[in-house]
Amino acid sequence: MYFCGMNNIEKYIRDIQDFPKEGILFKDIATLLQDPVGMRLCLENLTQLVGEQKIDKVVGMESRGFFFGTLLAQQYNAGFVPVRKPGKLPFKKIAESYDLEYGQDSLEIHVDAIEKGERVLIHDDVLATGGTAEAVCKLVERLGGEIVQCNFIMQLDFLKGKDKLNGYNVTSVLNY
Ligand code: AMP
Repeated sequence: MYFCGMNNIEKYIRDIQDFPKEGILFKDIATLLQDPVGMRLCLENLTQLVGEQKIDKVVGMESRGFFFGTLLAQQYNAGFVPVRKPGKLPFKKIAESYDLEYGQDSLEIHVDAIEKGERVLIHDDVLATGGTAEAVCKLVERLGGEIVQCNFIMQLDFLKGKDKLNGYNVTSVLNY
């Protein structure tokens, strides 16, 4: 594990072995969220990754992408767009399916969430295999958004999620 030369938020993240199933080491950000210093450090680090770039919309994935996604949107005077699991969004929407370890899942976005040419920051807590983020990138591009960066608190490098996001600027505060 190494840091990007920034503040150490690693101590605020709790590892849970074998959750939600055996063999998975779950990176729990509940302990980070419940500590105001941890929250502030994390937001500062995420913001440093984006720098001074102009952002029109921040897109966060359900549900742990919502926490810092909304805070980042405020930092950049941008709007926040939730990408949600099927059946949750009430208005007209489009969907993208992606592969899970067993079977498939899909994600949805409102059709009026992003305007053509808008500069989009994508945010989630963890980049694992990359299937979720890849589906979100497709949704954003189908609406005409321009993806500025895919921004995560953590990347699990051994799962090679970055390979699925080839061509995008993928950044994270922590790499495991
Ligand atoms: P993936 O599509 O495999 O990149 O999985 C990413 C999504 O699953 C993110 O929304 C994460 O919140 C969640 N996730 C995957 N693996 C983990 C993990 N080890 N710890 C915490 N969350 C995870």
